[in-house]
Amino acid sequence: MTKKLIIKSNIIFFALHAFSTLLPAQNSIQQILNELAHEEQQLWKELERLKITKRMISLCQKARMHEYSTCRKEIENSATKKPLSQSLLELIKKVFKHYAVDIKSVAIIGYSDTKQVIIATDFQLFINEDEFLKFHPAAQEFLIAHEIQHIVHNDDSVRYFIYNQLSPTPEQMNDPEYIVNRFYRFQEKRADMLAAIHDPHYAQGNIKLLEPCQCQETSGISHPKESQRMAWAMDILKTVHQQPLVT
Ligand SMILES: [Zn+2]
Repeated sequence: MTKKLIIKSNIIFFALHAFSTLLPAQNSIQQILNELAHEEQQLWKELERLKITKRMISLCQKARMHEYSTCRKEIENSATKKPLSQSLLELIKKVFKHYAVDIKSVAIIGYSDTKQVIIATDFQLFINEDEFLKFHPAAQEFLIAHEIQHIVHNDDSVRYFIYNQLSPTPEQMNDPEYIVNRFYRFQEKRADMLAAIHDPHYAQGNIKLLEPCQCQETSGISHPKESQRMAWAMDILKTVHQQPLVT
């Protein structure tokens, strides 16, 4: 083999090697995305049996956006506002930039009158700073990243219109197996997973958030149980980022 050919084959070998080391992560990301897409499709199929289609909901999002916005602005107006610190605003900006989402499309609202730490609608991000700062710094960043996923997918208006179309009873909303609750849990799972697969630092933050001292196990109706969320988070850290758990 000539010198030139040896160099060429070495380059090809190293290129292939570099590519193959990337493969497991890429495969696992694609697998997660495929599974999420499949799960969403199945849920929409079930909703179709109740005469709710994805197309109908996206038409509602266009035609009745004013109604949705008014409803959410009423919530904003009734909240007790508390301005956010400059350092928290900087952190929020940093996370939005990291996920390449335009922060100008979202109203950042500090409030103090509920124990709900952070909530996103399609165009608002409510944060109770006093409660938020009780979390580990990495968990704080993950919380913002999780809410960004809700914003990107317009999860809140999808929920709003599905709920309005079905008008479920309180009994139905207490049933974890009811389709609306299963749909809500899917949105939460997707927000966790898409935020965590993006970056190992945020995947570690996901785990920090779910550590027992950080949050209490919930009923598993509107959100998946924390133990289930922790299992997904650990799996993403291992398979997508191939990183050990930082304690
Ligand atoms: Zn959420």
